[in-house]
Amino acid sequence: ANSNSAAPAATPMMAQYWALKAQAGGCLLFYRMGDFFELFFDDAKAAAATLDIALTSRGEHEGQPVAMCGVPVHAAESYLARLIRAGHRVAIAEQVETPAEAKARGGSKALVARAIVRFVTAGTLTEESLLEGRSANRLAAMAEVGSEGEVAIAAADISTGRFEVVAVRPEAVDAELARLAPSELLVSESAGELPISSARQLVRRPPADFSSTAAQKRLEAFFGVKTLDGFGAFSRGEIAAMGALVAYLDHVGTGAPTFLQPPVRHLASGRMAIDAATRESLELVRTMAGTRDGSLLGTIDRTVTAAGARLLADDLASPLTDKAAILDRLDLVDGLARDALWRGELRAALRALPDAGRALGRLVAGRGGPRDLAQLRDALGGARLLRERLAHRPDLPPLLARLLPALDGHGTLVDELTRALIETPPVDAAQGGYIAEGYDHALDALRETARDGRKAIALLEAGYRDRTGIASLKIRHNGVLGYHVEVPAKHADTLMAPESGFTHRQTLAGVVRFNSSDLHEAASRVTQSGIHAVAAEAAHLESLTEAATARREAIAASCDVLARIDVAAALADHAMSHNWCRPDLAETPCLDVVGGRHPVVEAALAKAGDRFVPNDLSLSETDRLWLVTGPNMGGKSTFLRQNALIVVLAQAGGFVPAASAKLGLVDKLFSRVGASDNLARGRSTFMVEMVETAAILAQATPQSFVILDEVGRGTSTYDGLALAWSVVEAVHEVNRCRCLFATHYHELTRLAETLGALSLHHVRAREWQGDLVLLHELADGPADRSYGLAVARLAGVPAGVVKRAEAVLAKLEAGREKTGGLAAGLDDLPLFAATLAAVPAEKHDALRDALAQIDPDALAPREALDALYALKHLL
Ligand code: ADP
Repeated sequence: ANSNSAAPAATPMMAQYWALKAQAGGCLLFYRMGDFFELFFDDAKAAAATLDIALTSRGEHEGQPVAMCGVPVHAAESYLARLIRAGHRVAIAEQVETPAEAKARGGSKALVARAIVRFVTAGTLTEESLLEGRSANRLAAMAEVGSEGEVAIAAADISTGRFEVVAVRPEAVDAELARLAPSELLVSESAGELPISSARQLVRRPPADFSSTAAQKRLEAFFGVKTLDGFGAFSRGEIAAMGALVAYLDHVGTGAPTFLQPPVRHLASGRMAIDAATRESLELVRTMAGTRDGSLLGTIDRTVTAAGARLLADDLASPLTDKAAILDRLDLVDGLARDALWRGELRAALRALPDAGRALGRLVAGRGGPRDLAQLRDALGGARLLRERLAHRPDLPPLLARLLPALDGHGTLVDELTRALIETPPVDAAQGGYIAEGYDHALDALRETARDGRKAIALLEAGYRDRTGIASLKIRHNGVLGYHVEVPAKHADTLMAPESGFTHRQTLAGVVRFNSSDLHEAASRVTQSGIHAVAAEAAHLESLTEAATARREAIAASCDVLARIDVAAALADHAMSHNWCRPDLAETPCLDVVGGRHPVVEAALAKAGDRFVPNDLSLSETDRLWLVTGPNMGGKSTFLRQNALIVVLAQAGGFVPAASAKLGLVDKLFSRVGASDNLARGRSTFMVEMVETAAILAQATPQSFVILDEVGRGTSTYDGLALAWSVVEAVHEVNRCRCLFATHYHELTRLAETLGALSLHHVRAREWQGDLVLLHELADGPADRSYGLAVARLAGVPAGVVKRAEAVLAKLEAGREKTGGLAAGLDDLPLFAATLAAVPAEKHDALRDALAQIDPDALAPREALDALYALKHLL
């Protein structure tokens, strides 16, 4: 019954509620009452606001009305999904006995016992309905081990069992978390201030979960091994992080099994370092607004399987730095790019395959059903066909040849599943009917009996009609009465007669229902055999599930291979239809791009019927820093980003949007955008801009690639120019990385006179009949002027205002003539390199800084003496 009207203030129930609420930790408590899950107090307020459902109140607690709201049990999934998406975690308290049992146990007033049977949290979902098929869903745990000076992050996708662990320096934690983008992050309650910038779903767990000794035992027990050594040599921090993750899974599933593959160590060394700010600004797998659409991934994703989509996201988020590995992937994409027919066949075959990885996850977690087994059957069967077809190709790319054997070995399982299951079994096992005819003779016999019984019942119906002369007599079935005879009320008297052989069961408005001994006998035959058949099917389901999950690792490996093929074919397909090229890898730190394009901007322009203007880039050791000037909206940002994306795509092992491209491998990629462009992020502070810039200066190496877009513009003109100036100098002299620097500070072009490996470029614009025409075309040399006013006119600033600005500009420019302009005198400044570059970064100290400030030639004797005293003072 719907217990909506029950008063939660009733004492025993409140006591039970609070006890459960305490176990729920920080989760919302779904408290089962009849057909509803009810929420109370603050939980109710939060849920009602998120779900937009009515908030009511029932009874009182400590003199206050108790807030309450509820969701019907049958529709709970969709409400859960919305709560999880809004960042909540939910504990589900079910009734674990029937009211009758409660009465038998504790008398007529006894409260039905309830217990938390499950926690639903963003990082631990396995329900297909709650998961986004094409994205990974990760749970992460972070452990610091002070003495080792490292932070370990374990991350698992529970839906597929993928489990990885990585150890990084504290300053790289943010980048690693940005790559993994966990939906939930576990940290110890005792951990202090965390080196994490962006807010994400943080869950504090007891410090005991993170103890490495306990964690080791927990992991060994989880994987059923005597030692973890077989999986690799893990540090204490890594073990602590993995152990905390497993402890949480146990807590959340309240002991139910979960699926984790043996942990794989993610080696940051084989991957391009991309920090959180860079990821965000390049919009690799998500836009700044958080959507997949409009990101690089969203634009180029042509995968045909969900697992392929998830792998492509991982690839783009974590490009490689190992040349052989990149070439392996490129060869595969190349092979598929060259042969459209083969590619088409492969993609068609892959498209037909179900998401076996997640089906396996559900089966291992004990939440799988007949449909999941059928998905394994179809996916693994398809894999076998694919393998047979591929094995015959003479020119198999080496990576594929190495991967193929992992598709083998499921023959027995596939055959068994094929014999056992019907073509399209139901998701839910409860009703039976999913085991195929001929698989189990005893089951077939039971079904035969049931069928015979149903036939007998049909015959009875005909016989009864004859006997009674009531043509509208029917034999029906429902859950309460089982099989019964039903006649319209006006004929009831005939059957009511004692000699008729019918027994009255129920009188409703228009019909009266009866039973008879013949019918009872036939019906119990049907029901009994039906019950036995369902039980027999359930036993088969269990043993088939066991057989499948026993092969979990081999199945997961096959799924990985299918995903890899899908990704390569998708990249090849996209490359071919968009005229992309295979990049060349060079030994020197160069970056040569001919006809480079920005895939996302190009796609957006194409939608509007506009054409993208391709641009070239040529960076080398002797010309490694390009300063790009030109009007706003001229295409500077686009040019910078397209080259960063080309680097990402190339090292992810894909083709690139260019006519040709050659690059020396990039170890770290940085992208920074001047503060005012980040207004949308709501943290547009000059401070952030400078913190992020500082990170580049500290980390970029001669193998790195850096794009800096309008850095320095978050502050006043003088400050901004001064900072931009010194940042360019430092990048050129100290970091010596490849760098593109876009700026509207025309004054910076003077740096070309002193910095040998810097060259000047601009995006072209032309004024034509008073209008500004942006050509989006890159040319050598500095921009001749800034076109600021023309851009303003283009943007629709009223003519009067632009005219007035022209007058003001004329005054300003006259002033500049006199003083020599903003950068006057900068030529005399000793080069940054001469002052600091020679000193290793860590040796910078107050003394050296002060010394660097002194220009002996400019000092009077008295000043020199003062300076000497000042220096002595600093010692
Ligand atoms: P800037 O950084 O110089 O202000 P953007 O790179 O933001 O300019 O480009 C502004 C707009 O110009 C883009 O949104 C795009 O529509 C267009 N654009 C940029 N580069 C190109 C190009 N190469 N070809 C065509 N249109 C372009």
